[in-house]
Amino acid sequence: MPIRIAVIGSGPSGFYTADALLKSDADVEIDIIDKLPTPFGLIRAGVAPDHQSTKRVARSYERTAQDDRVHYFGNVEIGGDVTIDELRDCYDAVVVAIGMPGDPPLSIPGGDKEGVIGATKFVGWYNGHPDFANFTPNLNTKNVAVIGNGNVAIDVARVLVKTTAEMAATDLPGPIGEQIQSAPITDVYMFGRRGPVEAKFTNVELREMGQLENAVAILDPDILPDEVTGDWSDRDKRLRERNLKTLREFPDIDPGDKNKKVHFVFYAQPVEILGGDTVTGIRLEKTTVVDGRARGSGEFFEIECGLVIPAIGYALQPFDGLPVDEKTGCVTNDDGRIDEGFYAVGWAKRGPTGVIGTNKPDGKIAAAQILEDISEGVKPGGEALKALLTKKNVRWSDFDDWQTINEAEISNARPDAPREKFLSMNDMLVVVGKA
Ligand code: NAP
Repeated sequence: MPIRIAVIGSGPSGFYTADALLKSDADVEIDIIDKLPTPFGLIRAGVAPDHQSTKRVARSYERTAQDDRVHYFGNVEIGGDVTIDELRDCYDAVVVAIGMPGDPPLSIPGGDKEGVIGATKFVGWYNGHPDFANFTPNLNTKNVAVIGNGNVAIDVARVLVKTTAEMAATDLPGPIGEQIQSAPITDVYMFGRRGPVEAKFTNVELREMGQLENAVAILDPDILPDEVTGDWSDRDKRLRERNLKTLREFPDIDPGDKNKKVHFVFYAQPVEILGGDTVTGIRLEKTTVVDGRARGSGEFFEIECGLVIPAIGYALQPFDGLPVDEKTGCVTNDDGRIDEGFYAVGWAKRGPTGVIGTNKPDGKIAAAQILEDISEGVKPGGEALKALLTKKNVRWSDFDDWQTINEAEISNARPDAPREKFLSMNDMLVVVGKA
């Protein structure tokens, strides 16, 4: 009998696991289960809409999904429709590839005020994730504070200041683009609690901020160090030198008649979100970096703003029965092994770091572990899952359904755009007759 494997989650880590299993000589059947009818996880709902070339990797996942040994079960929520124990009863191995779809709390006074919107939620919203179909952020503000100096912070800042023309050939949903363009936002502040050398954004993303049609990158050049000091690997040092070079060039760029600004404010840690029920500003403390860590200086300043977007990482959203390591925030695992026949990959395994390709080795490791631990399949697999879903009245969607949704989105696209995303589960399911 084939070894029957369920992969929970259809993002990069799930697909790389399926791919590695297919490439082995083993007799395997793989079912990829996702709560959405649309596959590809963060490729669809996390990668910025104006980074279409990054999204092309989904083509290789599509080939994996079309292998006869792979089946897609969309619109199925593990922990909701099906418990993890029920799933494990159906499959010889279960792989958790659910990423980290939540926002960590901004643990400062006022961090839960209305108008503080975590980047996961904000990015999910502008990427048309159906979880946020009924969510409308209040963009009625001149100033926006983005907390964090990672690539997500840069993505958010860039999407907020790009012009309609710059966003034309993207899959930013039309109604969301209109909301952003009609907002009075002129100034986006990106606050880094450490310095430019410690910033985590990568150079391609940073350079884009100097090439925007209607926004200029602002910073105080005096805070830029002459050289990168500290304990970095040669590669890291080179990357940081490149960022410093780019930042040094920003003040020399002619602002022309650009009327939006992205302020890079380093050495500034948020200490309080100001306002009553809703945000009216943010209070920050100037810092110095000591032994690689931000240390408060006792000197404070405030910026008025109506929207604060913490882009400070991601948090796991575990379902019942998934052990969580409180210290790391990841699924409790030993290099991916959770329990007998139970594995974790990607961010759920090792936390929210790295690029898409970083998930590839996770998939290879999980595939090797599964084939090492299980020599022959004994569980019924997809047929048992289908019976269970039918019994529970869950209407799952398959990969053909995704292709129908995909074609409909492509044909609904405005000129130049690759697609016009459906914004709600219901709209997607109507297209495939499963609403
Ligand atoms: P990240 O790279 O870890 O950046 C998080 C930022 O938040 C850091 O600047 C961090 O500062 C700051 N931070 C964390 N906690 C904070 C707090 N309590 N107060 C103030 N600042 C705080 O995470 P990310 O931007 O979410 O990105 C996640 C991963 O996805 C990264 O590997 C990223 O490169 C990748 N990604 C890549 C792209 C791309 O390639 N274009 C796009 C998006 C995401 P410290 O450094 O001081 O901790």
